[in-house]
Amino acid sequence: MKKHELYLYNTLTRKKELFKPIVSGEVGFYSCGPTVYWNQHIGNLRTYVFNDILKRVLLYDGYKVKHIMNVTDVGHLTSDADTGEDKMEKAAAKEGKKAQDIADYYWKIFRQDFRKLNIIEPDVWCKATEYIQEQINMLKVLEKKGFTYKTSDGIYFDSLKLNDYGKLAKLKIEGLKAGIRTDVREKKNPTDFALWKFSEKPGIRQQEWNSPWGIGFPGWHLECSAMAAKHLGKQFDIHTGGEDHITVHHTNEIAQAEAAFGKKPWVKYWLHGAFLTSKGEKISKSKGGLFTIDNLEEKRFKPLSYRYLCLNTHYRKQLSFSLEVLKNAEKSYDRLRTIIRDLKQEKDKSKTEQNTNKQEINELYLTKFEDAINDDLNMPQALAVLWDFVRDKDAKGKLKTIEEMEKVFALDLLVEEEKVKVSDKITKLIDEREQARKDKDFAKADKIRDKLKEKGIILEDTKDGVRWKKV
Ligand code: AMP
Ligand code: ZN
Repeated sequence: MKKHELYLYNTLTRKKELFKPIVSGEVGFYSCGPTVYWNQHIGNLRTYVFNDILKRVLLYDGYKVKHIMNVTDVGHLTSDADTGEDKMEKAAAKEGKKAQDIADYYWKIFRQDFRKLNIIEPDVWCKATEYIQEQINMLKVLEKKGFTYKTSDGIYFDSLKLNDYGKLAKLKIEGLKAGIRTDVREKKNPTDFALWKFSEKPGIRQQEWNSPWGIGFPGWHLECSAMAAKHLGKQFDIHTGGEDHITVHHTNEIAQAEAAFGKKPWVKYWLHGAFLTSKGEKISKSKGGLFTIDNLEEKRFKPLSYRYLCLNTHYRKQLSFSLEVLKNAEKSYDRLRTIIRDLKQEKDKSKTEQNTNKQEINELYLTKFEDAINDDLNMPQALAVLWDFVRDKDAKGKLKTIEEMEKVFALDLLVEEEKVKVSDKITKLIDEREQARKDKDFAKADKIRDKLKEKGIILEDTKDGVRWKKV
């Protein structure tokens, strides 16, 4: 175990707290995952980059981490108020496909995005449809303890049976009780939520199951608590998600889990990532400003430039996205990579190679880096330390120390430029350009350079000759 103490901002207490796991040296960690009815956009992915940084810092600090992430493939309705269509069923009808095929398709893309962004996959992926029995069992416990009631469209959780409902979001329950005249339909209280929804007409939905209460499907909130309990037990250390989950999803998860399992707090540390915004608004399908990683690649951005951009803003601050902002991040990321590549080349050429291979860690800079990451994952500060370090001409042990830092940054800073498989045609063009340069026919050389650029090959003239990379 490293000597550093980790401080994390806990949404439950609204304070930075010293992290103390339930079992020394081990961390149970649950992250809310994607609803797989469509691509996850770069806003969603910002939240997963934040999860990844948290996980990497825990691993860096020497913890044994068990990380669980759900895949919502049923039950997430278009409205958080338990009304509207099931997002999966809606997408299946629209695309004329099986809901399960849609789920598999988008989950696969999501995992590709993880690879592109160097996000470590969870130890367990849980698909909601594969844990129906666990959800039914949890509901049975809640029913036995008197927390549920039935309406014409489902089984609901009676939120105000708990005296601390809404503590995560600091909801003003008295106000709600006094009767905001929202459309509560048959609900007893506006904050009650569905645990099980009945199929309107059994046999029409693609995804429905038998239950002691009738044919239907589980409510969205139930899946996360039931699956977390299955893998992490009735109480665990860390639960994460985007900031939008504070008021409804996580509030309801806490209510049902504390009611069912009787442990308080059910989860010790709640961490939430702030939104990626566009023109001051949350990025969403309806409001625009929405890109997928694929879209960014089509625009010739490197996915890791997006990771770099995310790391440059603290996870609890909103990040205003535009292509211009990403372009600047990419420039800075490229500069950093170039500096580090040059360091590597210097090392390779160095006459004292034997010694440099045995480089020592630069304790001064590594400690500064560790202070930053352990201070509520202050990655902008950690990046600033890295920049100071690479610019410090007298600093020793750069490559070895960056290798350590990369365990958290995961920006491929030490990975060779992608070795491009260049076709014979392209090799010929590169040779022709070289010849043109030797002949001092710079107009021709430039023309060939532009032609190569169109093909996605960028040339760079260095003192050691021409180098190329694929974009
Ligand atoms: P969903 O697929 O809608 O359940 O969302 C997946 C994750 O992305 C959740 O943790 C959300 O809180 C998060 N999320 C949604 N929109 C954004 C956004 N614009 N910026 C950051 N995170 C987001
Ligand atoms: Zn969840």
